[in-house]
Amino acid sequence: MKFEAIERETVILDPANNMQPKTIPSEIRKDPLTGKTSRICQFRPLKWKKPDLDQLIAGTEKTCPFCPDKVLKITPHFPESILPEGRLVLNDKVLFPNIAPYDILGAVVTLGDRHYIPMTDFETERIADGFRLALKFFQHIDNIDHPESVYHLVSWNYMPASGSSVIHPHYQVFATAYAPNLLRMELQAAERYMKKNGTNYWDDLVKAEKDGKDRFLGTIGRTNWMTVFAPLGVAGDVVAVVNDISSTLELTDDDLTDLAEGLNNLMAAYDKIGIYNFNVGFYPGAAGDDFTRFHLVFSPRIYFNEALGTPDVAALRNLGNETVCWALPEDINEMLIAEF
Ligand SMILES: [Zn+2]
Repeated sequence: MKFEAIERETVILDPANNMQPKTIPSEIRKDPLTGKTSRICQFRPLKWKKPDLDQLIAGTEKTCPFCPDKVLKITPHFPESILPEGRLVLNDKVLFPNIAPYDILGAVVTLGDRHYIPMTDFETERIADGFRLALKFFQHIDNIDHPESVYHLVSWNYMPASGSSVIHPHYQVFATAYAPNLLRMELQAAERYMKKNGTNYWDDLVKAEKDGKDRFLGTIGRTNWMTVFAPLGVAGDVVAVVNDISSTLELTDDDLTDLAEGLNNLMAAYDKIGIYNFNVGFYPGAAGDDFTRFHLVFSPRIYFNEALGTPDVAALRNLGNETVCWALPEDINEMLIAEF
């Protein structure tokens, strides 16, 4: 396993020090699987100031389609050919079709009755129950041999900087025969890796990070948690790789609880440095893709400028797909590991 970092140095004449030269280090890191690069900077502390969240949230429940007084009245049903019962319900969580579909089979899962849940207030079972509903939907469409039952994807956009237009916690759930770009790149690269090396990249990564220790967080059940060497997020990413399985449909009920527990740990840790937005995404293989392993990624999100609502995705990322992380993943790992 090759973790390649190209070290860089920038020199500026510093107005805070009588225009004397100041050297600022950075790195270009290559993802060991895909070769995709990330820029790693070290020019600011990993600490953000949260806004007044009560003020931000106040009143948003009035028009919220996912609150308990509305969710069963105004959300759509699936047609009978896809899901005879129309929606799926588990305790206070509800799965229904996404009203803004970007593929044939899209759904939303609400995570219960509470309109706003701070990152430090999620119960493991609430997160796991949301996954259970998604799995139930995926298993059903697989049982009816739906042609889109290939890649089973769950993503979680938590709070507005993550891309969510609704405060109420919910997952985006969809099954598709067309893997999103990054997943497709990863799967192709993992297949090449196995052909070349005769081993599974993700198994090798877990082993290398366990041995290396400076990016390994811990194991929960058969889920392995580690910070990502070349992350997508400005405050690092964490990946959880599940041993032995490739596709979402192979996740056991225990796996769902273990994944939820790890996510809860991450929320507690990132909350301490002022993060209050994040994305989570599934990266599964299709059935029989033994060259990969099911993994999910947690990626914190921020505003570059809170007051202006400036997102953390600017031209470099949006048009160049080049990511900039504001700290060394190893330093981020040190901050996170207290919760594992
Ligand atoms: Zn709500």
